[in-house]
Amino acid sequence: MVKKALPWYQEGLRFQCTGCGACCTGAPGYVWVTDENIKEIAQYLHITPEECRRKYVKRVDNRFTLKELPISYDCVFLQGRRCTIYPVRPKQCRTFPWWKENLDSIAEWKETARRCEGIDHKDSPLISLKEIQSQLD
Ligand code: SF4
Ligand code: SF4
Repeated sequence: MVKKALPWYQEGLRFQCTGCGACCTGAPGYVWVTDENIKEIAQYLHITPEECRRKYVKRVDNRFTLKELPISYDCVFLQGRRCTIYPVRPKQCRTFPWWKENLDSIAEWKETARRCEGIDHKDSPLISLKEIQSQLD
């Protein structure tokens, strides 16, 4: 049997979210949400899924993404530096920075680190390969 080569981050990677909010603002982007996410967010906000969809979600082709504020590009749920739906934030937010595209190469990881102060910070804990892989799709 051929053994699968270990990824470049086999020794783990340093990360801890500082809650700076930088990944929730600053540039146009998409935070994809499913019908299930919309239901969870609505329940958390004590509104109906229809109201949640109307106020906070927009359609892009055949997918749905959270709205952003004009100019600042803040996510509609960012208040100050805080996510106001943190317990029910979408998977994309929960699994950052452990996205396949961020881990493709050291260069991609370093590029991601330029936008996230919790990556590779000396005080951030070392996250094991096993834990990283459990977050990846
Ligand atoms: S940019 Fe990084 S440290 Fe800041 S909120 Fe996002 S994940 Fe956390
Ligand atoms: S849902 Fe919360 S964590 Fe996700 S982008 Fe918006 S403010 Fe940030």
